[in-house]
Amino acid sequence: MTQESNPAGWELSADLLARYSGPCPRYTSYPTADRFAPLGGTEPWRALQDIRSLSLYVHIPFCQSLCYFCACNKVITQQYGLASSYLERLLQEAQWYRDKVARVPVTQLHLGGGTPTFLSDGDLRRLMEGLGEVFELRPGDDVEYSIEADPRTLEVETLDTLRELGFNRLSLGIQDFNADVQRAINRVCTPEQVAQLTNAARERGFESISYDLIYGLPKQNLTTLEATLEQVLELSPDRIALYHYAHLPHRFKAQRLIDTDLVPSASEKIAMQLAAVSQLGQAGYEFLGMDHFAKPGDELAKAAHAGMLQRNFQGYTLMPADALVGLGASAISYSRDGYWQNLHRLKEYAQAIGERGHAVCRGWQLNDDDRLRQWLISELMCRLRLDKGEAARRAGAPFDVFFHEELERLQPMFEDGLLWQDAGSLGVTERGRWFVRNAAAAFDRYLHSRETEARYSRVL
Ligand code: SF4
Repeated sequence: MTQESNPAGWELSADLLARYSGPCPRYTSYPTADRFAPLGGTEPWRALQDIRSLSLYVHIPFCQSLCYFCACNKVITQQYGLASSYLERLLQEAQWYRDKVARVPVTQLHLGGGTPTFLSDGDLRRLMEGLGEVFELRPGDDVEYSIEADPRTLEVETLDTLRELGFNRLSLGIQDFNADVQRAINRVCTPEQVAQLTNAARERGFESISYDLIYGLPKQNLTTLEATLEQVLELSPDRIALYHYAHLPHRFKAQRLIDTDLVPSASEKIAMQLAAVSQLGQAGYEFLGMDHFAKPGDELAKAAHAGMLQRNFQGYTLMPADALVGLGASAISYSRDGYWQNLHRLKEYAQAIGERGHAVCRGWQLNDDDRLRQWLISELMCRLRLDKGEAARRAGAPFDVFFHEELERLQPMFEDGLLWQDAGSLGVTERGRWFVRNAAAAFDRYLHSRETEARYSRVL
Protein backbone atom coordinates (compact mmCIF):
# COMPACT_ATOMS: atom_id res chain seq x y z
CA MET A 1 0.00 0.00 0.00
CA THR A 2 1.31 3.47 -0.80
CA GLN A 3 0.63 6.52 1.32
CA GLU A 4 -1.75 7.99 -1.21
CA SER A 5 -3.77 4.82 -1.57
CA ASN A 6 -4.50 4.41 2.12
CA PRO A 7 -8.27 4.02 1.97
CA ALA A 8 -8.70 3.23 5.62
CA GLY A 9 -8.60 6.81 6.86
CA TRP A 10 -6.93 7.67 10.14
CA GLU A 11 -9.58 6.96 12.70
CA LEU A 12 -8.90 4.69 15.61
CA SER A 13 -11.10 1.68 16.12
CA ALA A 14 -11.64 -0.52 19.15
CA ASP A 15 -10.69 -3.54 17.06
CA LEU A 16 -7.29 -2.07 16.15
CA LEU A 17 -6.68 -0.93 19.69
CA ALA A 18 -7.43 -4.40 20.97
CA ARG A 19 -5.14 -6.10 18.46
CA TYR A 20 -2.16 -3.78 18.85
CA SER A 21 -2.27 -3.05 22.55
CA GLY A 22 0.01 -5.84 23.76
CA PRO A 23 3.20 -5.23 25.79
CA CYS A 24 5.70 -3.13 23.89
CA PRO A 25 8.71 -0.96 24.80
CA ARG A 26 8.45 2.82 24.54
CA TYR A 27 11.86 3.17 22.86
CA THR A 28 13.21 6.09 24.80
CA SER A 29 16.47 4.29 24.04
CA TYR A 30 17.64 1.55 21.72
CA PRO A 31 18.57 -0.98 22.93
CA THR A 32 16.00 -0.60 25.71
CA ALA A 33 17.31 -0.14 29.24
CA ASP A 34 16.35 -3.66 30.34
CA ARG A 35 19.16 -4.88 28.05
CA PHE A 36 21.81 -2.93 29.90
CA ALA A 37 24.55 -5.01 31.51
CA PRO A 38 27.87 -4.39 33.29
CA LEU A 39 30.09 -2.36 30.96
CA GLY A 40 33.26 -4.37 31.47
CA GLY A 41 36.19 -2.28 30.29
CA THR A 42 34.18 -0.01 28.01
CA GLU A 43 33.68 3.65 28.89
CA PRO A 44 31.03 5.23 26.64
CA TRP A 45 31.41 8.55 28.52
CA ARG A 46 34.76 9.04 26.78
CA ALA A 47 32.82 10.33 23.78
CA LEU A 48 31.64 13.28 25.92
CA GLN A 49 34.90 15.00 25.00
CA ASP A 50 33.79 15.19 21.43
CA ILE A 51 30.35 16.84 21.50
CA ARG A 52 28.92 20.22 20.54
CA SER A 53 25.82 20.32 22.75
CA LEU A 54 24.68 18.58 25.90
CA SER A 55 21.46 17.56 27.65
CA LEU A 56 21.38 17.23 31.41
CA TYR A 57 18.92 15.16 33.40
CA VAL A 58 18.78 15.38 37.18
CA HIS A 59 16.82 12.82 39.17
CA ILE A 60 15.36 14.02 42.47
CA PRO A 61 13.68 10.92 43.92
CA PHE A 62 11.88 12.38 46.94
CA CYS A 63 8.12 12.71 47.42
CA GLN A 64 6.05 13.66 50.45
CA SER A 65 3.41 10.99 49.98
CA LEU A 66 2.89 7.87 47.91
CA CYS A 67 0.65 7.87 44.84
CA TYR A 68 -0.61 4.32 44.57
CA PHE A 69 -0.25 4.09 40.79
CA CYS A 70 3.40 5.13 40.85
CA ALA A 71 6.05 3.12 39.01
CA CYS A 72 8.87 5.69 39.38
CA ASN A 73 12.10 5.36 41.30
CA LYS A 74 11.17 7.43 44.36
CA VAL A 75 11.61 7.70 48.12
CA ILE A 76 8.66 8.77 50.25
CA THR A 77 9.86 10.84 53.17
CA GLN A 78 9.05 13.78 55.41
CA GLN A 79 12.70 14.18 56.39
CA TYR A 80 14.20 17.01 54.42
CA GLY A 81 17.70 16.09 55.62
CA LEU A 82 17.71 13.15 53.22
CA ALA A 83 17.30 15.50 50.27
CA SER A 84 20.11 17.77 51.48
CA SER A 85 22.62 14.97 51.76
CA TYR A 86 21.47 13.51 48.43
CA LEU A 87 22.11 16.87 46.82
CA GLU A 88 25.66 16.84 48.20
CA ARG A 89 26.27 13.50 46.51
CA LEU A 90 24.64 14.60 43.30
CA LEU A 91 26.89 17.64 43.04
CA GLN A 92 29.85 15.41 43.82
CA GLU A 93 28.77 13.22 40.93
CA ALA A 94 28.59 16.31 38.68
CA GLN A 95 32.21 17.04 39.59
CA TRP A 96 33.19 13.57 38.35
CA TYR A 97 32.26 14.78 34.87
CA ARG A 98 34.39 17.91 35.13
CA ASP A 99 37.32 16.56 33.12
CA LYS A 100 35.20 14.17 31.04
CA VAL A 101 32.79 16.48 29.25
CA ALA A 102 33.59 19.21 26.75
CA ARG A 103 32.51 22.72 27.84
CA VAL A 104 29.60 22.96 25.45
CA PRO A 105 26.21 24.63 25.89
CA VAL A 106 23.58 22.73 27.83
CA THR A 107 20.70 23.12 25.40
CA GLN A 108 18.36 21.02 27.46
CA LEU A 109 18.01 20.50 31.19
CA HIS A 110 15.33 18.43 32.83
CA LEU A 111 14.66 17.90 36.52
CA GLY A 112 12.60 14.77 37.02
CA GLY A 113 11.64 12.50 39.87
CA GLY A 114 10.17 11.76 42.30
CA THR A 115 9.26 15.37 42.86
CA PRO A 116 12.03 17.83 41.96
CA THR A 117 10.17 20.63 43.71
CA PHE A 118 10.58 18.65 46.93
CA LEU A 119 13.85 20.62 47.06
CA SER A 120 13.65 23.94 48.89
CA ASP A 121 14.21 27.09 46.85
CA GLY A 122 17.62 27.39 48.51
CA ASP A 123 18.58 23.89 47.43
CA LEU A 124 17.26 24.47 43.91
CA ARG A 125 19.68 27.41 43.75
CA ARG A 126 22.48 25.30 45.22
CA LEU A 127 21.80 22.62 42.63
CA MET A 128 21.96 25.05 39.70
CA GLU A 129 25.06 26.76 41.05
CA GLY A 130 26.79 23.41 41.49
CA LEU A 131 25.81 22.28 38.01
CA GLY A 132 27.04 25.61 36.64
CA GLU A 133 30.51 24.91 38.02
CA VAL A 134 30.83 21.90 35.75
CA PHE A 135 28.46 22.45 32.85
CA GLU A 136 27.89 25.41 30.56
CA LEU A 137 24.39 26.45 31.62
CA ARG A 138 23.06 29.20 29.40
CA PRO A 139 19.47 29.96 30.32
CA GLY A 140 17.51 31.76 27.62
CA ASP A 141 14.75 31.41 25.09
CA ASP A 142 16.83 29.16 22.85
CA VAL A 143 17.15 26.34 25.43
CA GLU A 144 14.67 23.97 27.06
CA TYR A 145 15.00 23.97 30.84
CA SER A 146 12.11 22.02 32.26
CA ILE A 147 10.96 20.70 35.61
CA GLU A 148 8.31 18.25 36.75
CA ALA A 149 6.20 19.65 39.57
CA ASP A 150 3.54 18.35 41.90
CA PRO A 151 0.70 20.90 42.01
CA ARG A 152 -0.21 19.76 45.52
CA THR A 153 3.02 21.07 46.96
CA LEU A 154 4.41 23.61 44.48
CA GLU A 155 4.39 27.16 45.89
CA VAL A 156 3.86 30.15 43.63
CA GLU A 157 7.06 31.67 45.07
CA THR A 158 9.00 28.66 43.81
CA LEU A 159 7.90 29.56 40.30
CA ASP A 160 9.74 32.87 40.74
CA THR A 161 12.85 31.00 41.82
CA LEU A 162 12.60 28.60 38.90
CA ARG A 163 12.24 31.39 36.35
CA GLU A 164 15.18 33.19 37.92
CA LEU A 165 17.22 30.01 37.56
CA GLY A 166 16.35 29.79 33.87
CA PHE A 167 13.53 27.25 33.78
CA ASN A 168 11.12 27.98 30.97
CA ARG A 169 9.02 24.82 30.83
CA LEU A 170 6.80 23.39 33.53
CA SER A 171 5.19 19.99 33.66
CA LEU A 172 2.38 19.47 36.18
CA GLY A 173 1.32 15.98 37.26
CA ILE A 174 -2.48 16.13 37.26
CA GLN A 175 -3.54 12.51 36.50
CA ASP A 176 -7.28 13.06 37.12
CA PHE A 177 -9.55 15.69 38.70
CA ASN A 178 -12.30 13.38 39.92
CA ALA A 179 -12.37 13.26 43.73
CA ASP A 180 -13.14 9.50 43.94
CA VAL A 181 -10.34 8.66 41.52
CA GLN A 182 -7.97 10.93 43.41
CA ARG A 183 -8.79 9.22 46.68
CA ALA A 184 -8.33 5.78 45.10
CA ILE A 185 -4.81 6.74 43.99
CA ASN A 186 -4.00 8.78 47.10
CA ARG A 187 -3.36 11.97 45.17
CA VAL A 188 -5.85 14.69 46.01
CA CYS A 189 -5.46 17.96 44.17
CA THR A 190 -8.14 20.45 43.16
CA PRO A 191 -8.57 22.06 39.74
CA GLU A 192 -8.37 25.42 41.55
CA GLN A 193 -4.83 24.64 42.75
CA VAL A 194 -3.81 23.70 39.24
CA ALA A 195 -5.50 26.78 37.74
CA GLN A 196 -3.71 29.07 40.16
CA LEU A 197 -0.30 27.56 39.35
CA THR A 198 -0.96 27.52 35.62
CA ASN A 199 -1.91 31.20 35.61
CA ALA A 200 1.00 32.11 37.85
CA ALA A 201 3.42 30.20 35.60
CA ARG A 202 2.07 31.97 32.52
CA GLU A 203 2.38 35.36 34.18
CA ARG A 204 5.97 34.57 35.00
CA GLY A 205 6.81 33.73 31.41
CA PHE A 206 6.98 29.93 31.34
CA GLU A 207 6.86 29.30 27.61
CA SER A 208 5.27 25.90 27.79
CA ILE A 209 3.03 24.33 30.39
CA SER A 210 2.36 20.66 30.11
CA TYR A 211 -0.11 18.46 32.03
CA ASP A 212 0.34 14.76 32.68
CA LEU A 213 -2.91 12.81 32.72
CA ILE A 214 -3.58 9.11 33.11
CA TYR A 215 -6.45 6.96 31.91
CA GLY A 216 -7.22 3.49 33.22
CA LEU A 217 -7.00 4.50 36.90
CA PRO A 218 -9.18 2.90 39.58
CA LYS A 219 -12.72 4.32 39.72
CA GLN A 220 -12.25 6.09 36.40
CA ASN A 221 -14.93 5.70 33.75
CA LEU A 222 -15.93 7.43 30.56
CA THR A 223 -17.96 10.05 32.38
CA THR A 224 -15.31 10.97 34.94
CA LEU A 225 -12.58 11.11 32.31
CA GLU A 226 -14.66 13.33 30.07
CA ALA A 227 -15.30 15.69 32.99
CA THR A 228 -11.60 15.78 33.87
CA LEU A 229 -10.70 16.58 30.27
CA GLU A 230 -13.29 19.37 30.19
CA GLN A 231 -11.66 20.92 33.22
CA VAL A 232 -8.23 20.46 31.68
CA LEU A 233 -9.33 22.07 28.41
CA GLU A 234 -10.61 25.10 30.28
CA LEU A 235 -7.13 25.59 31.70
CA SER A 236 -5.70 25.19 28.18
CA PRO A 237 -2.21 23.73 28.76
CA ASP A 238 0.18 23.97 25.79
CA ARG A 239 0.87 20.25 25.87
CA ILE A 240 -0.86 17.20 27.29
CA ALA A 241 0.61 13.80 27.94
CA LEU A 242 -2.14 11.22 28.28
CA TYR A 243 -0.63 8.03 29.66
CA HIS A 244 -2.12 4.64 30.02
CA TYR A 245 -2.10 3.19 33.53
CA ALA A 246 -0.47 -0.22 33.51
CA HIS A 247 -1.61 -2.11 36.60
CA LEU A 248 1.36 -4.35 37.44
CA PRO A 249 1.16 -4.92 41.21
CA HIS A 250 3.56 -7.87 40.98
CA ARG A 251 6.23 -5.44 39.77
CA PHE A 252 5.38 -2.21 41.56
CA LYS A 253 4.75 -2.47 45.27
CA ALA A 254 2.79 0.79 45.49
CA GLN A 255 0.19 -0.57 43.09
CA ARG A 256 -0.71 -3.33 45.56
CA LEU A 257 -2.55 -0.60 47.47
CA ILE A 258 -4.97 -0.33 44.58
CA ASP A 259 -8.02 -2.56 44.61
CA THR A 260 -7.70 -4.44 41.31
CA ASP A 261 -11.49 -4.71 41.08
CA LEU A 262 -11.69 -0.93 40.75
CA VAL A 263 -9.34 -0.82 37.76
CA PRO A 264 -11.20 -0.49 34.44
CA SER A 265 -11.14 -3.51 32.16
CA ALA A 266 -9.12 -3.56 28.94
CA SER A 267 -12.21 -2.81 26.86
CA GLU A 268 -13.22 0.06 29.16
CA LYS A 269 -9.72 1.49 28.80
CA ILE A 270 -9.98 1.27 25.04
CA ALA A 271 -13.30 3.13 25.14
CA MET A 272 -11.70 5.75 27.37
CA GLN A 273 -8.81 6.24 25.02
CA LEU A 274 -11.07 6.59 22.01
CA ALA A 275 -13.23 9.14 23.83
CA ALA A 276 -10.26 11.10 25.16
CA VAL A 277 -8.56 11.26 21.78
CA SER A 278 -11.75 12.48 20.17
CA GLN A 279 -12.34 15.08 22.89
CA LEU A 280 -8.79 16.44 22.65
CA GLY A 281 -8.95 16.43 18.85
CA GLN A 282 -12.24 18.36 18.85
CA ALA A 283 -10.67 20.90 21.19
CA GLY A 284 -7.94 21.47 18.60
CA TYR A 285 -5.05 19.53 20.12
CA GLU A 286 -2.77 17.74 17.70
CA PHE A 287 -1.54 14.23 18.36
CA LEU A 288 2.26 14.19 18.20
CA GLY A 289 2.64 10.47 18.78
CA MET A 290 3.26 8.22 21.78
CA ASP A 291 0.66 9.70 24.20
CA HIS A 292 1.58 13.32 23.51
CA PHE A 293 -0.70 16.14 22.34
CA ALA A 294 0.01 19.82 21.71
CA LYS A 295 -1.85 22.92 20.66
CA PRO A 296 -1.38 23.61 16.94
CA GLY A 297 0.75 26.72 17.58
CA ASP A 298 3.02 24.90 20.02
CA GLU A 299 6.63 24.47 18.92
CA LEU A 300 6.42 20.69 19.18
CA ALA A 301 3.36 20.58 16.94
CA LYS A 302 5.11 22.82 14.41
CA ALA A 303 8.22 20.66 14.57
CA ALA A 304 6.13 17.54 14.03
CA HIS A 305 4.70 19.08 10.84
CA ALA A 306 8.17 20.03 9.66
CA GLY A 307 9.53 16.53 10.34
CA MET A 308 11.91 18.01 12.93
CA LEU A 309 10.79 16.21 16.09
CA GLN A 310 13.38 14.32 18.08
CA ARG A 311 13.02 11.92 20.93
CA ASN A 312 14.94 11.41 24.15
CA PHE A 313 14.37 9.86 27.56
CA GLN A 314 11.84 12.57 28.44
CA GLY A 315 9.80 12.13 25.28
CA TYR A 316 9.61 14.41 22.26
CA THR A 317 11.91 17.39 22.03
CA LEU A 318 12.97 20.16 19.70
CA MET A 319 16.52 20.43 20.86
CA PRO A 320 18.36 17.20 20.65
CA ALA A 321 21.88 17.33 22.00
CA ASP A 322 24.87 15.20 21.07
CA ALA A 323 24.90 13.53 24.48
CA LEU A 324 23.02 13.30 27.75
CA VAL A 325 24.47 13.29 31.23
CA GLY A 326 22.03 11.89 33.79
CA LEU A 327 22.78 12.66 37.44
CA GLY A 328 21.25 10.99 40.47
CA ALA A 329 20.01 7.56 41.47
CA SER A 330 18.97 5.41 38.48
CA ALA A 331 19.73 8.18 35.96
CA ILE A 332 20.72 7.13 32.45
CA SER A 333 23.29 8.91 30.27
CA TYR A 334 24.24 8.43 26.65
CA SER A 335 26.85 9.39 24.11
CA ARG A 336 27.37 8.27 20.53
CA ASP A 337 29.25 5.25 21.94
CA GLY A 338 26.54 3.95 24.26
CA TYR A 339 24.53 4.23 27.45
CA TRP A 340 25.41 4.10 31.13
CA GLN A 341 23.10 3.98 34.12
CA ASN A 342 23.51 4.75 37.82
CA LEU A 343 22.67 2.52 40.75
CA HIS A 344 19.00 2.57 41.60
CA ARG A 345 18.85 2.59 45.36
CA LEU A 346 19.62 5.77 47.23
CA LYS A 347 21.92 4.22 49.78
CA GLU A 348 24.00 2.36 47.20
CA TYR A 349 24.10 5.40 44.94
CA ALA A 350 25.35 7.65 47.75
CA GLN A 351 27.91 5.07 48.88
CA ALA A 352 29.27 4.61 45.35
CA ILE A 353 29.62 8.36 44.81
CA GLY A 354 31.45 8.64 48.13
CA GLU A 355 33.83 5.83 47.21
CA ARG A 356 34.57 6.40 43.54
CA GLY A 357 32.89 9.65 42.48
CA HIS A 358 30.39 7.98 40.19
CA ALA A 359 27.62 5.40 40.56
CA VAL A 360 27.61 3.77 37.12
CA CYS A 361 26.54 0.14 37.42
CA ARG A 362 25.56 -0.93 33.93
CA GLY A 363 25.03 0.24 30.39
CA TRP A 364 25.50 -0.66 26.78
CA GLN A 365 28.29 -0.16 24.26
CA LEU A 366 26.65 0.38 20.88
CA ASN A 367 27.73 -1.71 17.91
CA ASP A 368 27.10 -0.83 14.26
CA ASP A 369 23.88 -2.82 14.08
CA ASP A 370 22.56 -1.09 17.24
CA ARG A 371 23.32 2.31 15.67
CA LEU A 372 21.53 1.37 12.49
CA ARG A 373 18.41 0.27 14.36
CA GLN A 374 18.62 3.21 16.77
CA TRP A 375 18.52 5.60 13.79
CA LEU A 376 15.76 3.64 12.11
CA ILE A 377 13.52 3.54 15.21
CA SER A 378 14.08 7.25 15.76
CA GLU A 379 13.11 8.02 12.15
CA LEU A 380 9.94 6.00 12.51
CA MET A 381 8.93 7.52 15.82
CA CYS A 382 9.81 11.14 15.06
CA ARG A 383 9.45 11.50 11.31
CA LEU A 384 7.00 8.66 10.69
CA ARG A 385 8.93 7.73 7.59
CA LEU A 386 12.01 5.74 6.66
CA ASP A 387 14.13 6.50 3.65
CA LYS A 388 14.86 3.01 2.36
CA GLY A 389 17.84 4.25 0.34
CA GLU A 390 19.45 5.80 3.42
CA ALA A 391 18.67 2.71 5.50
CA ALA A 392 20.23 0.53 2.79
CA ARG A 393 23.31 2.74 2.69
CA ARG A 394 23.68 2.43 6.46
CA ALA A 395 23.02 -1.33 6.37
CA GLY A 396 25.35 -1.93 3.43
CA ALA A 397 22.69 -4.06 1.70
CA PRO A 398 19.38 -3.56 -0.15
CA PHE A 399 16.62 -2.58 2.32
CA ASP A 400 14.19 -5.37 1.41
CA VAL A 401 16.93 -7.96 1.68
CA PHE A 402 18.55 -6.77 4.90
CA PHE A 403 15.22 -6.21 6.65
CA HIS A 404 13.43 -9.19 5.17
CA GLU A 405 12.34 -10.61 8.56
CA GLU A 406 11.29 -7.21 9.86
CA LEU A 407 9.09 -6.62 6.81
CA GLU A 408 7.43 -9.96 7.43
CA ARG A 409 6.69 -8.96 11.01
CA LEU A 410 5.21 -5.70 9.76
CA GLN A 411 2.93 -7.36 7.22
CA PRO A 412 -0.20 -7.23 9.43
CA MET A 413 0.40 -3.52 9.98
CA PHE A 414 0.52 -2.95 6.22
CA GLU A 415 -2.67 -4.97 5.83
CA ASP A 416 -4.40 -2.95 8.54
CA GLY A 417 -3.51 0.33 6.87
CA LEU A 418 -1.15 1.39 9.65
CA LEU A 419 1.95 1.49 7.44
CA TRP A 420 2.56 2.21 3.78
CA GLN A 421 5.53 1.71 1.52
CA ASP A 422 6.70 2.37 -1.98
CA ALA A 423 10.04 1.78 -3.69
CA GLY A 424 11.84 4.53 -1.76
CA SER A 425 10.09 4.84 1.59
CA LEU A 426 8.32 3.06 4.39
CA GLY A 427 5.97 5.24 6.40
CA VAL A 428 3.37 5.38 9.12
CA THR A 429 -0.18 6.35 8.11
CA GLU A 430 -2.23 8.83 10.14
CA ARG A 431 -4.00 6.05 11.94
CA GLY A 432 -0.77 4.10 12.31
CA ARG A 433 0.65 6.91 14.46
CA TRP A 434 -1.13 5.39 17.44
CA PHE A 435 0.84 2.19 16.99
CA VAL A 436 4.24 3.51 16.03
CA ARG A 437 5.93 1.68 18.90
CA ASN A 438 4.62 -1.61 17.46
CA ALA A 439 6.29 -0.72 14.16
CA ALA A 440 9.52 0.19 15.95
CA ALA A 441 9.41 -3.10 17.84
CA ALA A 442 9.61 -5.04 14.56
CA PHE A 443 13.14 -3.66 14.13
CA ASP A 444 14.24 -4.44 17.69
CA ARG A 445 16.72 -7.25 17.38
CA TYR A 446 16.64 -8.05 21.09
CA LEU A 447 12.92 -8.14 21.65
CA HIS A 448 11.55 -11.32 20.29
CA SER A 449 11.25 -13.65 23.19
CA ARG A 450 8.13 -14.19 25.29
CA GLU A 451 10.04 -13.72 28.46
CA THR A 452 11.14 -10.25 27.34
CA GLU A 453 7.73 -9.15 26.10
CA ALA A 454 6.18 -9.88 29.49
CA ARG A 455 8.34 -7.15 31.01
CA TYR A 456 6.76 -4.25 29.10
CA SER A 457 3.61 -2.35 29.77
CA ARG A 458 0.86 -2.64 27.23
CA VAL A 459 0.56 -0.08 24.47
CA LEU A 460 -2.92 0.65 25.84
S1 SF4 B 1 3.60 9.77 41.07
FE1 SF4 B 1 5.17 11.33 41.31
S2 SF4 B 1 4.62 12.35 43.25
FE2 SF4 B 1 3.50 10.42 43.22
S3 SF4 B 1 4.82 8.97 44.32
FE3 SF4 B 1 5.29 8.77 42.15
S4 SF4 B 1 6.99 10.13 41.78
FE4 SF4 B 1 6.09 10.72 43.75
